[in-house]
Amino acid sequence: MENNKPVVVSGARPTGRLHLGNYWGTLRNWLDLQNKYDCYFFVADWHALTTGADKSENIAENTREMVLDLMALGLDPAKCVLFRQSDVKEHAELTLLMGMVTPISWLLRNPTFKEQLQELHKAKYKGQEDKMKKAEGVTKQLAEAHGEDAEATALHSDMAVIGFLGYPVLMAADILLYDAKFVPIGKDQLPHLELTRDMARRFNHMFGAQVLNEPEPLFTSSPLVPGLDGRKMSKSYGNTIFLGEEAKSLEAKVKKMYTDPLKVKLDDKGHPEGCVVCAFHKLYNPDWQARETECREGKTGCGACKKQLIELMEKEVGGFRARRAELAASVDVEKVLADGAARARAVASKKMAAASKAAGLI
Ligand code: SF4
Repeated sequence: MENNKPVVVSGARPTGRLHLGNYWGTLRNWLDLQNKYDCYFFVADWHALTTGADKSENIAENTREMVLDLMALGLDPAKCVLFRQSDVKEHAELTLLMGMVTPISWLLRNPTFKEQLQELHKAKYKGQEDKMKKAEGVTKQLAEAHGEDAEATALHSDMAVIGFLGYPVLMAADILLYDAKFVPIGKDQLPHLELTRDMARRFNHMFGAQVLNEPEPLFTSSPLVPGLDGRKMSKSYGNTIFLGEEAKSLEAKVKKMYTDPLKVKLDDKGHPEGCVVCAFHKLYNPDWQARETECREGKTGCGACKKQLIELMEKEVGGFRARRAELAASVDVEKVLADGAARARAVASKKMAAASKAAGLI
């Protein structure tokens, strides 16, 4: 890593096996960024707790698995700083200080908080609608007892914990500790980055010192990666293909992919838009346009189309599996993380000292 490159910071939550949606959406960009910028990539284990404290038993193992996945994809700890968030306590320390200057109203306005709260609520009571109605009744009564409106009802949910409401503060600390010049995001994540910039400005203004630098967005392009059923690929929908999917299972999953329901016979003229197999050809087949034309003209059938996709994907996924197995046998993940944490801490501790001084603590 060279010291004169702009700094980029990004993290990913260790919530289980990574899938192709994670790869095409975020991680592929990391591989590119590590060659151009001074990158700090972290496994966001504290963030995993903000919405999953009741199922935290796998976080440590998921962290290890994630590091192996990232390295098998090509992330190189010699080119970037790869670390575990909770190893660098300055992330928590700066979160605490920033919490002193962040108005609660800013956090309550965060639309992701309310949306995710509803999703979590539904997921918790999936298949137990009676229980859900009862829980909703209790929270409504509580809200009414406090003279609050329906909007506030959600805040009485037992999932609306301080860590979850305050995750944007932790996110801001993650970024600001390293003087990030850029944060790689999709356009839909811009409001989060704006919040980080607002927090940095308010901190500097309140303490009368220019300590925290406002990061800028680095818009990354991410192709659309549908799940097997055509919805967004997500573990909660059960429609994923994992990075190291086994050959047999990969084959079974591709065979299950949603296709044009109007194309029944080989010579039926198909509609590749909306077909999941076609979306994956675009990612794995350099000749995808020819495949699309054949589909439209009724010159190929879905069986042949899937067969070719299975072969193309297995080449990539099989290569990943082999690299992953080799790394699992040879890499000391804890050492990789300890080295990364030491390098991250060297930078974060200086920023933390400056922030504490500005706040009048030192
Ligand atoms: S031929 Fe291929 S692209 Fe066309 S609908 Fe069938 S699977 Fe999809």
